[in-house]
Amino acid sequence: MSKKGWREIPIGGIILEGGTSAQYNTGSWRSFQPILDKSKCTSCLMCWIYCPDSAIEVKDGKVVGIDLEHCKGCGICARECPLREKAIVMVEEEKAALAKG
Ligand code: SF4
Ligand code: SF4
Repeated sequence: MSKKGWREIPIGGIILEGGTSAQYNTGSWRSFQPILDKSKCTSCLMCWIYCPDSAIEVKDGKVVGIDLEHCKGCGICARECPLREKAIVMVEEEKAALAKG
């Protein structure tokens, strides 16, 4: 996607319509990354409902992963996970990268 010049961007950089999260790669500036533990997840889908970027990936009614291209690291999914032992935890981006090797 080519970048727009300042003359093409709405005043204040506001987003004029809803449902545009798929057009923006917010993963490039994320500082915290959600880590999903599938062994704990009950697929209650609360994280999927609350994620503002539709980054929780669901297949056949089950949470299967997180779209890190579009996740901005806001932490809402981890906050809303109702489990006492959270199935999603937020980890600093650098630590997440180190953990993955
Ligand atoms: S951290 Fe925010 S954007 Fe990323 S998956 Fe969780 S709720 Fe969605
Ligand atoms: S809120 Fe927690 S338990 Fe529910 S689907 Fe998301 S990660 Fe799984």
